[in-house]
Amino acid sequence: MGEEGIGIFPAEDALEMVLMFDGTGRILYANAAACDKLGYVREESAGARMEDVLPGAFQPSGSGAGAESWPNGGTRHLVMYRKNLTCFPVEAKIVPSPGNPGCYLCLADDVLEKEHLAREIGQVREEARQAAKVKSEFVANVTHELRTPVNGILGNVRELLGQVEDERTVQALQLIERCCGDMNKIINNILDFSKLEAGKFVLESRRFHFRNMLDYVKAQHISKITEKGLDFFMTVSPQVPEYVVGDELRVVQVLNNLLSNALKFTAVGRIDVQVLLTARVEDKVELFFIVSDTGIGIGEEDRDKLFQSFSQVDASISRKYGGTGLGLNICKQLVELMGGDIEVESKKGRGSNFSFSIWVEDDGGEAGGRKSPDDIAAVFKGMAHAGEREETETVRIYGSPENREALKRNLSKLILCVEMGNWEKAEMFMETVRQLTEGAPSDVKRAALKLKMAIQKGDYEKVSAEYERLNQCSLAPG
Ligand code: ADP
Repeated sequence: MGEEGIGIFPAEDALEMVLMFDGTGRILYANAAACDKLGYVREESAGARMEDVLPGAFQPSGSGAGAESWPNGGTRHLVMYRKNLTCFPVEAKIVPSPGNPGCYLCLADDVLEKEHLAREIGQVREEARQAAKVKSEFVANVTHELRTPVNGILGNVRELLGQVEDERTVQALQLIERCCGDMNKIINNILDFSKLEAGKFVLESRRFHFRNMLDYVKAQHISKITEKGLDFFMTVSPQVPEYVVGDELRVVQVLNNLLSNALKFTAVGRIDVQVLLTARVEDKVELFFIVSDTGIGIGEEDRDKLFQSFSQVDASISRKYGGTGLGLNICKQLVELMGGDIEVESKKGRGSNFSFSIWVEDDGGEAGGRKSPDDIAAVFKGMAHAGEREETETVRIYGSPENREALKRNLSKLILCVEMGNWEKAEMFMETVRQLTEGAPSDVKRAALKLKMAIQKGDYEKVSAEYERLNQCSLAPG
């Protein structure tokens, strides 16, 4: 079998047998798999004919008419003959050879080998599944076993803390208590991770008070935030219902993880948490969370790795800040189980925005539209912190003439700052714009959010586009 005038054939390394022949049935080329399986050496071109190799597949007519009679792309079960006249079953098809008029290609698979391979693949897959199952059961057992002694230590330390007065002993015990807490966090992470990996994770579905849940999250971080001297703002859109049905514990877990990271990686500046309602389908609502910080940020090259398990940006990060690199992977898996997704926008040295969405059931008690005292208080607490002037009640109501005027004013100042390259000031106006669009429809809020992200990234092109979009949807008449 030879390659007369055919040149380098792309099928040479294919796993299936590839034979090229002319209209008379003369084989012009056979790839490595065909030569190997049929027992020909490459140079043996003379005498090899299709009717010898695959009898009944092709009637040599001189014109190739036999080949034309093959159903286009159809596969047939046939018997293929080796050079030594032994045979084996194949699945074969014959098609016109692209780019070689009057020539045909026979593509054939050794059926027995294919079946054997399929069996082997199935076996390997089953072994891998079993190994993964054993591994995750082992991890689950070990972590469970670890919990008992850690909690034993924790319980005793807490009891001792109530009994001792000596300052140094109290400090030592408090350190042990903190270490046990950290160890518990790691154990819980590994346990969650192995459950998620094994597909054994089940979400709970209970009614809970959404804003109380947020207060609880805030309470867990506030002393550390104060200790670090950071500003902290938490705003919830008035459209977010009072009560929702979902897995409160897991929402808390995701928020805690993002907030702990924001705190860990931010030395100066602020941390913001925002919650918006972005979609509604019957009684289900999509909640959109943003946790942003002004910390060390993450380089573009590292962002893709973030949500993978055990991944930290680099080894020096884990040495300096600790952590297992499991947190964000768990967050991603949890958020996906809750029907949403998680994303990050960040710029090295300028901070990060982690945003995620989840679907929960609205269980009533809407927070009172635009005039929810909680929300207005939260918004204006933020404004007071940012040193903004006191706004009148009407300015706060989205869509009112005063609100439109304030929005217009702040948007044009914002774009002016961007034009002049004063990003810090642009961020300040952005904060006011965001507050002025608090009670706006979700498309306006999304546009404001995107503009905010573009400003934080310092991306002039994006800012111009998002500014136009927000301008259009927020200042459109009506
Ligand atoms: P870990 O438990 O190690 O913090 P995570 O999965 O939560 O694991 O985070 C993985 C890595 O992502 C961190 O080690 C850090 O490099 C990076 N990272 C996460 N959040 C932030 C953030 N807000 N700012 C900067 N880097 C972050």
